[in-house]
Amino acid sequence: VSGIEAIPRAAPDRILGLTEQFASDSCRNKVNLTVGVYKDSWGQVTTLPSVAMAQRQIDEDVELNTDLSYLPITGCPEYSEKVLGFLFGESSPGSGPQLVRQQRVSFAQTLSGTGALAVASKLLALFLAQTVWVPQPSWPNHWNVFRSNGFADIRAYPYYRDGRLVVDEWLDLLRSQVRSDRAKRHAIVLHACCHNPTGADPTREEWRRILDTIHELQMIPVIDMAYQGLESGNPPKDAYVLRMCLDESRYDCWPNGLFLCQSFAKNMGLYGERVGSLSVVVPPNDSGTREKVDSQLKQIVRSAYSSPPGYGSRVATLVLSKPFLRMQWYKDVAFMVSRLNQVRSDMHELLGWPALTDFEHQHGMFYYTGLSSKQVDLLRTKYSVYMTADGRLSLSGVNDQNIEYVCKALKAVSK
Ligand code: PMP
Repeated sequence: VSGIEAIPRAAPDRILGLTEQFASDSCRNKVNLTVGVYKDSWGQVTTLPSVAMAQRQIDEDVELNTDLSYLPITGCPEYSEKVLGFLFGESSPGSGPQLVRQQRVSFAQTLSGTGALAVASKLLALFLAQTVWVPQPSWPNHWNVFRSNGFADIRAYPYYRDGRLVVDEWLDLLRSQVRSDRAKRHAIVLHACCHNPTGADPTREEWRRILDTIHELQMIPVIDMAYQGLESGNPPKDAYVLRMCLDESRYDCWPNGLFLCQSFAKNMGLYGERVGSLSVVVPPNDSGTREKVDSQLKQIVRSAYSSPPGYGSRVATLVLSKPFLRMQWYKDVAFMVSRLNQVRSDMHELLGWPALTDFEHQHGMFYYTGLSSKQVDLLRTKYSVYMTADGRLSLSGVNDQNIEYVCKALKAVSK
């Protein structure tokens, strides 16, 4: 048996590894456009005003700010109530409230979106699915999370190529492969909006076709909603994929459940606090399915990290509870989106790149340049402009001080 010396070196994280390199780059003009963290036009990561107000209220409340005890395994009950109200009330007012009333939603406060995906993956792999489908391209961590949490069979579906979505190809592939592999049950990851890394989302009409196919093939939808609000500036509005899944009467139910992995990292700027949730919507029946799913979620969380942290969820609970803070939060999200859109259109003008990709239909934090990994390398080594190898850049790292430099460098390497 080989010992500890034989452990192979794991590949560095494709995104966070670049941040480490950036820190040791001594170029004066260096620009970090790698990670999806919102920065203001002065390049600062600031706390959203709504969140800062909630923090002040917590500071002033002795009971809240001195409570360091454990939360329950699946999180704070008040957080659950408010987040369920937000996701299955305001974000999906058609069928959502009834699902909650009928107690058909199994819910856990999770370690942000990644934690939600990890817990979902475990539950799926233990009981429900043998194969999971992930878009190509996608957030690279999807592969990691599903592989580390029970899936040996992870497959890519074609999503985007040469500046365009390839929905027909995607659905044709699913039809042929899932139909011919009926022995397995298949789950599928869907980016709810602001697809990472491309920023390109299907139209409503395309979503209808996509969801019809998934439903017909009896696949289990796993909605990854990490950027709710960053498409339109209005968080409830951006939950349209969830609404379509729940409201379309032809999907009277999702027979093996519907999974929603949600995060407040981006839309509340609570990145490091790890605040998110997993909701599993179960079909209507009276055999105690929800309670059984609840019990398994508890078992998974208990064995992985016991219970989630408290502070960030208190902040989110307050923002969602107080009408004034909620209104301010919506303003904060709208403000972030207006800046991102401004940067996108300013870059569009400076770059004059109509041919590379479809600028108008890109949403969210990222701009997908279409640059090859070689060009991305050159951008880093020659100009100290850092972006991910897939050609994605984070728009919020661009500001008045560096936009001309970034665009000049992009143009130079794309020649
Ligand atoms: N899904 C996607 C597509 C993402 O881009 C991210 C964040 N980069 C996440 C999930 C999870 O993020 P977090 O764990 O910070 O909520």
